[in-house]
Amino acid sequence: MADEILIKPDLKFVQRIMAAGGQDAKKCYQCDTCCVVCNLTPENHPFPRKEMLQAQWGLKEVIKSPDIWLCHQCSDCTVHCPRGAKPGEVLGVLRQMCIENYAIPPQLARMVGDLRFLPLLIAFPVLLLLAALKVTGRLAIPEGTIVFSKMFPWWMVDIIFMGAAAFAVAVLAQGVMRYWRDINTSPWAVKLQGSVLANLIPVLQDILLHNRFKKCETTYARSLNHLLVVFGFITLGLVTAWAFVREWVFHWPGPYPFFSPFKMLALLGTALLIYGIYQIIVARQANADKAGFGTYFDWQLIYIVAAVGITGAGSWLFRLLGIASLAYPVYFLHLTSVFILFFFAPYTKLAHLVYRTVAMLYARMSGRGF
Ligand code: SF4
Ligand code: SF4
Repeated sequence: MADEILIKPDLKFVQRIMAAGGQDAKKCYQCDTCCVVCNLTPENHPFPRKEMLQAQWGLKEVIKSPDIWLCHQCSDCTVHCPRGAKPGEVLGVLRQMCIENYAIPPQLARMVGDLRFLPLLIAFPVLLLLAALKVTGRLAIPEGTIVFSKMFPWWMVDIIFMGAAAFAVAVLAQGVMRYWRDINTSPWAVKLQGSVLANLIPVLQDILLHNRFKKCETTYARSLNHLLVVFGFITLGLVTAWAFVREWVFHWPGPYPFFSPFKMLALLGTALLIYGIYQIIVARQANADKAGFGTYFDWQLIYIVAAVGITGAGSWLFRLLGIASLAYPVYFLHLTSVFILFFFAPYTKLAHLVYRTVAMLYARMSGRGF
């Protein structure tokens, strides 16, 4: 007699999916239309129908499936689903639960993804930065020319933000290693082909150019807007890296001259970030009826990125105008939002950067069709 296969439904898992934004998952009657219309799904074992079934039945192993990360939430399936089960949204919730599952501590991930804890999320960096100013005797608007390092010297910014970045990298690294181990030991695991490095390069190329993302139809513009935000971040990352080298290697003091190429690059990066995120907000609202409005988890990252861009541009503008009473407080808010972006990255949707990369790498090495 063949081995008995036990299915262990977890009702709490189903309730959590529904509470997190996948409340329509139970409407699915397995017609498979979603797999037919999805331009990103592989031919063998396509998604998202099977994930809808697993979500309905409370089979929580689904959050360890790499397939949930091959979906870019373009909503083509949601538009065509005859039952209004919103499979695109349900897969988004499963990805959120995957991030929560691999983050440590998972309780912090749950809190970060819960609107009720938003005040705490903001209070933590605010109190930390205020404490740093208080301890170093800088808790006042500095006199004279506006120079942000009078309030937050570089060494203080570096200590706080390198600490936040190191924390995020450590949490993400352990999460991704556990995820990689799980997908390679799961019931659907297959023997991988080729070296990690040789496969990682085309995967990163695909991600950088959004080749798969661009195949979406319903929300095609989202891939372009997302690309603007990504290149905004890359540009600002390069400027920040140069600022770090400038300070620690060359010991060049003071802010950049106004027409410095790096200042221009920083402005370009900020402009891309703000324009891209603005377009994402507009497109999400315009498509809300057919594609779904998105969950708090989706919107949280959008607003964090918007806060980083707007406060960055605002502090620069108020400094140019010489309004110290606004420039310093807005700069404080800028540092607060950057801290939230970095420190909480393993718990917010930003973690999709690494989990999706790992899942795409696995899919490529396991012959899932790209
Ligand atoms: S999610 Fe909708 S389209 Fe997909 S199988 Fe279920 S009912 Fe059909
Ligand atoms: S949201 Fe788009 S990519 Fe994701 S399963 Fe649906 S059709 Fe496919």
